[in-house]
Amino acid sequence: MSRAATLRRWCLGLGWCAALTLAGATLVPARAQSFDSVTARILALEDSGRGRPFDAAQALEALLPATAPHGAQRLELLTVQGLVLAAGAPADSIEPAATRLEAWAREPGAPNAAAAGSAAKLVRARSVARDGNLQRADAMMQEVMATLPTMLLPRERFRYIFTHGYIKDHAGQLEAAVRMHHEVLAIADAQGDPWRQSEARSALAYSYYGAKQFERARAIGGEAVAIAEKADDPVSLGRALTVVGIVLDSLGDQLGERRSFEAAIVAARRAGAKADEARYLANLADFFLKNGEYRIALTRAEAALPLARDLKDANIEMVALANMGLAHIALQHLELGKRYVRDAIAIDEGRGSLTGVTDTLEELGTYLEKAGDLAGAASAYHQHRRLATTLLRDDQQKSILAMQEQYDADRRSRELALLNRENEIKAEQLHRRDLQQHLWWLLAAAFVMSFAVVGLLYRRVRQTNRQLTTSNEMLKVQGERDPLTGLANRRHFQSVMRQLADDGKLTGTVYLVDIDHFKHVNDRHGHSAGDAVLVEVAKRLRETLREEDLIVRWGGEEFLVVVQALAPDQVDTLAQRMLGALDRTPVVCEKQRIAVTASIGYATFPIGPALVRVTWERAINLVDTAMYLAKAHGRNRAYGVRLLHARDEASIEAITCSLETAWRDGQVALTLLQGRTPLAVAA
Ligand code: GH3
Ligand code: MG
Ligand code: MG
Repeated sequence: MSRAATLRRWCLGLGWCAALTLAGATLVPARAQSFDSVTARILALEDSGRGRPFDAAQALEALLPATAPHGAQRLELLTVQGLVLAAGAPADSIEPAATRLEAWAREPGAPNAAAAGSAAKLVRARSVARDGNLQRADAMMQEVMATLPTMLLPRERFRYIFTHGYIKDHAGQLEAAVRMHHEVLAIADAQGDPWRQSEARSALAYSYYGAKQFERARAIGGEAVAIAEKADDPVSLGRALTVVGIVLDSLGDQLGERRSFEAAIVAARRAGAKADEARYLANLADFFLKNGEYRIALTRAEAALPLARDLKDANIEMVALANMGLAHIALQHLELGKRYVRDAIAIDEGRGSLTGVTDTLEELGTYLEKAGDLAGAASAYHQHRRLATTLLRDDQQKSILAMQEQYDADRRSRELALLNRENEIKAEQLHRRDLQQHLWWLLAAAFVMSFAVVGLLYRRVRQTNRQLTTSNEMLKVQGERDPLTGLANRRHFQSVMRQLADDGKLTGTVYLVDIDHFKHVNDRHGHSAGDAVLVEVAKRLRETLREEDLIVRWGGEEFLVVVQALAPDQVDTLAQRMLGALDRTPVVCEKQRIAVTASIGYATFPIGPALVRVTWERAINLVDTAMYLAKAHGRNRAYGVRLLHARDEASIEAITCSLETAWRDGQVALTLLQGRTPLAVAA
């Protein structure tokens, strides 16, 4: 697995948005008279601020008295100061610039008040994006762009569009990012300033890389390098080389990748751009980790750490610590390694970056698995999954808010499709019953002419009709179905549980099916192929199970199956059949063949030998842990908890927490089943 490519957690120079023109000679004539030595100084600081934001911000502060209150020059100074810091320093450092702009915007009748308001939002959006809240940053920029004055200087346009392009790119809206970066590139070329031209190209190349157009990304990245070299601009050069290195990684040119990353570090050092240097060191550490050169990875990550701490940059510090930890784990220094990774996780937790925490936990799991610490791996995966579920919920909430309109439209059309499908089935049932009714009629008429029978049949038809109405009403609400797969959702599961068990205890066999490496499917084939795989998996499970079995889309790529009254041998057979149903043939989606396997945890409740009754939450927790053990032991397998020596729910909970140890100690008996393909990942 290519860690960084999968996570797309490359460390780029984050100061791009401050990339602006130095030269004043090509400014539009109307504003040309305002271009004097002060403006030249502001723009020069904007340039140097890309590499050394704090120095530039301080020099700008000193320049403030030289600008007239409420004048265009002061506006530009504060904007530049805010942007330089927003791109390259922690969030609170932008406060002086941002609050001054905001106060200006609120001043009644102040000249340039609207422009100051826009600039304040621009600075805030850039800072919010740096802290990782891209949705919010995008919404802020959307608002700013809608109210932007039409009469802007090219370099002002450049600031706004470049910032928005950066945000779009990192938010994964690549089409918009490519469009904006093209626009920015056109402005840069028209202005003819080399380092703006270079940075615009680096940004565009990175968007193309995100859109998986690697060759184009390489060509444009190459141009960015050439321009930066010619202009002898080490900041731009470092950034351009970094993008090229990232693209070369995807093109499989490892030597080129390594050279680019190393040259980027040299350039950053020459520019005195400490944050860039630390980021590039992190990239290089990542490169060596990926290529199994753990000792070198360790030294690079260790070099990045003090730089990050000096800069108080939590993001780089986190990446450096995580890389150090992973390298140590790979070198079999397990305890030390785990400690560093935990430190990295603590940083993300501290700043509320749950996505960061889940990504790191997953990597920790992978490394521990490779290093042979299976218990550690299972525990890391387990935590990762818990968090991923929370995140999925949060993500869903966020995206529902952001895309309510589209979501509603989508849902309505899916509802309609489901309704039609359900209606067809019900209509068929009604038709069959009609025939039956006729038959009975004949029989009844011929033999007994019994009104009682007729009455009974009449009632049944009415009952079916009633059921149809209720079912349709339920479908109309769509509260209990997953719109993508048509399966029941968690809410439905809970209402079934409420009906089935008064005391909340679960009876039956529970299977938790989690698709293996599903993220790779999304990464390699796109999200819509991922969706198609989910639909197909749901279909195959439906075909494998009986109609009365409950199949629930439990989470993103997880399915929960509850089956009543299975004989013990059938319990395992069914697990084996589910494995087979998935790995037997690849899913075909737009001519791509996507291999699919899953890991399954399962158990029957009440659980023996003492036949302890447990709540459904505990039951699922247990099968979930078994499923994670199956993951940690290689995936494409099913682990069933056959026996669990516990007398009550509390001890079941305790055993669940250390299932693998309990298994080795003989407190638990597991059935281990394997799929056919030995862990086939999507080809
Ligand atoms: P593992 O083998 O450890 O289970 O790895 P994994 O990649 O399957 O597991 P992980 O939980 O890390 O990733 C699940 C991914 O499923 C992440 C998420 O983007 C994706 N996903 C969740 N819901 C959907 C969906 O509705 N459609 C698509 N296409 N992807 C989804
Ligand atoms: Mg999962
Ligand atoms: Mg999975």
